[in-house]
Amino acid sequence: MARPSVIAPLFSRAAELKGIGKQLDSALSRLLGKAEVRLIDVLFHLPTSLIDRRFSPPLTAVPDGVVATFEVMVESHLPPAYKRGNLPFRVICSNASGVLHLSFFHARKEYIEKQLPIGETRIISGRVERYHGHAQIVHPDYIVPVEEKWKVAKAEAIYPLVAGLTNRQMGWIASEAVKQAPELPEWLDAAMLRQKGWGGWKQAITAVHKPVSEEDVISGKARERLAYDELLASQLALMLARARYRKQAGLVVKTAGNVQTKMEAALPFRLTDGQRNVLGEIATDMASGARMLRLLQGDVGSGKTVVAMLAMADIIEMGKQAALMAPTDILARQHAALFKRILEPLGIRVMLLTGKVGTPKEREAMRAQVAAGEVDVVIGTHALFQESVAFKDLALVVVDEQHRFGVTQRMQLAEKAIIPPHILLMTATPIPRTLTMAMYGDMESSILREKPAGRQKVETRALPLERVPDVVEALKRAIADGNKVYWICPLVEEMEEEIGSEKEDIAAAEMRFKTLQSVFGNRVGLVHGRIKPDAREPIMAGFAGDEYDILVATTVVEVGVDVPSATVMVIEHAERFGLSQLHQLRGRVGRGSKASSCILLYRNPAGEVGEQRLRIMRETEDGFRIAEEDMRLRGVGDVLGKRQSGMQSFRIADLARDGELLSAARDDAKYIIHQDAELQSERGKALRTLLYLFSYDENIRLIHSG
Ligand code: ADP
Ligand code: MG
Repeated sequence: MARPSVIAPLFSRAAELKGIGKQLDSALSRLLGKAEVRLIDVLFHLPTSLIDRRFSPPLTAVPDGVVATFEVMVESHLPPAYKRGNLPFRVICSNASGVLHLSFFHARKEYIEKQLPIGETRIISGRVERYHGHAQIVHPDYIVPVEEKWKVAKAEAIYPLVAGLTNRQMGWIASEAVKQAPELPEWLDAAMLRQKGWGGWKQAITAVHKPVSEEDVISGKARERLAYDELLASQLALMLARARYRKQAGLVVKTAGNVQTKMEAALPFRLTDGQRNVLGEIATDMASGARMLRLLQGDVGSGKTVVAMLAMADIIEMGKQAALMAPTDILARQHAALFKRILEPLGIRVMLLTGKVGTPKEREAMRAQVAAGEVDVVIGTHALFQESVAFKDLALVVVDEQHRFGVTQRMQLAEKAIIPPHILLMTATPIPRTLTMAMYGDMESSILREKPAGRQKVETRALPLERVPDVVEALKRAIADGNKVYWICPLVEEMEEEIGSEKEDIAAAEMRFKTLQSVFGNRVGLVHGRIKPDAREPIMAGFAGDEYDILVATTVVEVGVDVPSATVMVIEHAERFGLSQLHQLRGRVGRGSKASSCILLYRNPAGEVGEQRLRIMRETEDGFRIAEEDMRLRGVGDVLGKRQSGMQSFRIADLARDGELLSAARDDAKYIIHQDAELQSERGKALRTLLYLFSYDENIRLIHSG
């Protein structure tokens, strides 16, 4: 079924609206981050605040900086006294309540005379300043004759904008789009509409672009309904994909368990109960006859890698293949080294296959080996799945740190195999429940809560940056005792442009590297994003081995890197890092049995949020609590880090605020799938429209192809 014709107008190009030229169209493209902006994109670009132009105080009593509207008489024109310089053309107006000065820079005399003829009455609206004791407006937003007062005296929606697009233009484009918006069949449950007091879709989209009060913009029913629509669409889309997984037969994995026993015996430690439980859950899934799709959440250092390895045991015993995908080259290499160390002595063939291994020709030979079934376990980055790798018999895919992969990549991965493999997703970022739900719907999930035995608390302290010399002294002692140290350099605010911030990160890291080198000589290593992975690896290896005692790094070590002998983590400008990031970084130490410490160096004052983060870090090592606090402090979008979040962001809903709506949407979607999985009923058909509205075309196709 193609997109229903009733919503076709919403998918026409915004450029086709009368009066939108090339420039406006390209401004819209930049604003909405899309090459071809559709009407629906415009409609879903909601105002974030509101100016109430109905405000009209006496002129002598206007507060500074507010937007207001006045009916005034034009008294006189005062052209600039000099032609040169940047002096305004001024126009003096008044009404019974006082005097209003208008100022125009670079104004043509003819323009002023036409707009503001002396002796006439005009409606003027704009932001008022108090200037030398009188009210002044520089470049009013509106100058209209009294008959056109209706154009001005109302609440005006304020939109997020880009250069080249004014709010007035945006408002006009939105109102044109609203005019084109059709009435749509209702996909929400009538009882729910009544209970929430929501109107229909058309009514909501109209109201949201014509707010009457601040309330309407921030918490209005119209916005709420549209947010719910968006959440319901995403939950439904997830569940449709999920339902298809469920229907697909999966390889029934059953063996005597010999390989697993051997693997366990080869490990230098005993599994924790938590690891054992998760392995049990995985085994049950894989033996069920359906495809496994399970999310394993485990805090940093909880030992997920070993779980991944042991989960592969039965697959290997059955003569099938398993793959492990890592988000970065460094991590893929590290995993491969570990897997080779443990598995190769058991006769299991492990291959590292990333875009950076070997020459293209060698990689081709390696791929041929994979296709011929001469390899049991393939470890790689996602390039592994982008370059066309055919497996002989791929039965299990483990995706490590999976939130770094985009939603589409996850989908691609599932499409790859001929017989769909079982899938285990692993993430080290403890994700608040709301987020898990938004990202995965009701996917099965396992949690590794406990850390391997013998782990000690990481002693965490916060010190102002002035104490660096003391820290360096303490490091001398720690290193003399055989400890290893990470020194993480600042991350410039996430808001700034990525490239700019990376440059600054690197400059800071290089400087710290030099000062530490002057104390510790050639026992200090440096890695950052600009150093090529091939060159990074020997440095990391040197740190894991005997060459370096201190590793200065930007956040490249953030994910997954494992050096058990590292026991000290110094984080410079800790106040700039997000909580989850601090937690991830701290998780790099405290992995062995030795006591570990984390020193958070902050610039004084750390700021309110900075201080809260430092306090929480000192208070707890519980990743889940930290994730919740992070969400509270930063808002959802940032919890996973913008750059690494694989989550599609919502256009209307805001998870920090709409958590309850999300729960309701999930229950609603569950009910719908239960009642009408094929979306055939009246409501089901309307729901298809909803899915198209949010561009879940792919998922609708799943209904049939499943
Ligand atoms: P993560 O969950 O962050 O990926 P890793 O799998 O890297 O954690 O494990 C962290 C460290 O803990 C590794 O050095 C690993 O060898 C070790 N480890 C894993 N399981 C156990 C265990 N049961 N007992 C002791 N150490 C363990
Ligand atoms: Mg890991």
